[in-house]
Amino acid sequence: MFKCPNCQSKDIGKIGINQYYCWNCFIEMTISKDIINTHQVEEDGSLSSLDDLFDEEDRRLSL
Ligand SMILES: [Zn+2]
Repeated sequence: MFKCPNCQSKDIGKIGINQYYCWNCFIEMTISKDIINTHQVEEDGSLSSLDDLFDEEDRRLSL
């Protein structure tokens, strides 16, 4: 399992195919081409991307 790029927590749950959720900082992550895409769930249920906050290096899966 990978670490959350936002909080470095390993408390990550799988919620779908290539879809994960950080139980520590409550962001949603999807994996494509070994890159973690991060999303914040807004109060109205929509998703906003957090990818701008992280370097691509930080979002790369290192298994
Ligand atoms: Zn997190």
